[in-house]
Amino acid sequence: MLISDLKRPCVKCDGSGFQAGFDEWGSIQTNLRKSCPACSGRGHNLTELGQNLWKLYRPMLQDLIREELQNKSTILE
Ligand SMILES: [Zn+2]
Repeated sequence: MLISDLKRPCVKCDGSGFQAGFDEWGSIQTNLRKSCPACSGRGHNLTELGQNLWKLYRPMLQDLIREELQNKSTILE
């Protein structure tokens, strides 16, 4: 399985993560570019397979984070 099976570069912003069409407005505007609405500024979108994997891993990641936070709070006490 390749990472390209899980995600694809966003075709709307060509993988830049920003909305296209702002560059021509001038240099100041480039700093104010908005995130691409199609990929939320990530520059890529998950494929169906990627989404399924994310759904599979997400609860495990949440458990892991919860454990980490609990460990931290017991050290601090
Ligand atoms: Zn995009």
